[in-house]
Amino acid sequence: MILNATYEPLGVVSVRRAAILVLSAKAICVADGDGILHSSRQAMPVPSVVRLTRFVRVPYRANVGLSRRGIFARDGGRCAYCRSTAETIDHIMPRSRGGRHAWENVVAACARCNHRKGDRTPAELGWRLQTVPGVPRGAAWRVLGHRAPDPRWAEFLALA
Ligand SMILES: [Zn+2]
Repeated sequence: MILNATYEPLGVVSVRRAAILVLSAKAICVADGDGILHSSRQAMPVPSVVRLTRFVRVPYRANVGLSRRGIFARDGGRCAYCRSTAETIDHIMPRSRGGRHAWENVVAACARCNHRKGDRTPAELGWRLQTVPGVPRGAAWRVLGHRAPDPRWAEFLALA
């Protein structure tokens, strides 16, 4: 993960890219990962979190890209209908009935609820959503959509 000079999370880059930033003094490593990187001339710990030495201005991005991983992260991995462990993505207004594939119309759901719901709406079933699905905001979302975050990132994401 890469942080701005202000510690704001900017995103996820490859280990190789992070190492190059550190070696060229464009960033400093603030949390080591597992293992050692060897180059022809030196060895360094695998960087897990690097912070840029100079502040970069980041264009404001209004819309966080919709992804399966992002939906699970937003909903805490819980089914929006029964709060059990979610394995699937459900369109609240089914796509077969014109429901959009957008943050406000998708929730994490367990396979059982998703199957029982079929192409009906929660209202038709008398179900209530346990969460109000919305577009995630904040810098941490630049990172969460990418992959399962490294536990070492948590303290840096909490600042966002
Ligand atoms: Zn469920």
